[in-house]
Amino acid sequence: MHILTTQAQMQQAAHDLRRQSRRIGFVPTMGNLHEGHLSLIRLARQHADTVIVSIFVNPTQFGPTEDYAAYPRTLDADLAICRREGVHLIYHPPVTEIYPPDASVTLAETSLAQTLCGAARPGHFNGVCTVVAILFNTIRPHLAVFGQKDAQQLRIIRRMVRDLAYPIQILASPTIREPDGLALSSRNRHLTPPQRAQATVLHRALTLAQANFAAGQRDPRQLENDMRQLIQQAPDARIDYISIVDDQTLAPLTAPITRPALAALAVWIGQPRLIDNTTLTP
Ligand code: AMP
Repeated sequence: MHILTTQAQMQQAAHDLRRQSRRIGFVPTMGNLHEGHLSLIRLARQHADTVIVSIFVNPTQFGPTEDYAAYPRTLDADLAICRREGVHLIYHPPVTEIYPPDASVTLAETSLAQTLCGAARPGHFNGVCTVVAILFNTIRPHLAVFGQKDAQQLRIIRRMVRDLAYPIQILASPTIREPDGLALSSRNRHLTPPQRAQATVLHRALTLAQANFAAGQRDPRQLENDMRQLIQQAPDARIDYISIVDDQTLAPLTAPITRPALAALAVWIGQPRLIDNTTLTP
């Protein structure tokens, strides 16, 4: 497994792979790899001959008051995991390699990013789109894998690929959870034991929404209110948003649900802010 740290090395290696007619699958990550990331790597391996994983904590997707400095960096453990999983190449650039000091061009998605985490974290998805575009341009993979855990990110990346005509297939990978339902996340490690117990409330709220929906409830406000009531029972929970939106446009739903909808939530449990989602399909 080769570990590359410069754009020039990465471009050359990817170029050589393409010349050997290798099909390149790419998995962008911020490191601190867990079973969720592994499922993405495994999916990439099923659809590609060569898997490239990037490990880069992207400063431009963190807001000024967010946890960029505290984001866990565990390179040695990440490399061991990738070796075990048969990853061929790691791209682990320093920030200056991705962003020249006077970088002045960024990407903005102007529709899907208006709601949910885009509304709660201004500029977040501009940072995501910009770094993913830079990585796509450097590696030029045939396919790239993203997790459904970050449902809005997945939709925005698909839109970016369509609108900017990237010849890259985007694969979605299902959310991997702890046995009690908590979605795996690098931020879970910041939960204290009592908060860890409460953190299951996100998945329980989504399960409740699924059950109510299956029982015929189609009113998005009612579904949201029932989720809110459940979450408020967790003493350390502070709701950022609970929202039912159109699954395609991510616009908030006001009328009864007749098309696939996305139920999405972001909740602080103590210090870490956790997100999760599920699809409601009539
Ligand atoms: P991150 O390292 O948090 O930027 O995530 C890298 C990729 O892993 C993204 O496409 C995420 O959606 C995906 N991911 C993170 N957590 C999970 C999970 N629990 N299940 C599936 N995919 C995940």
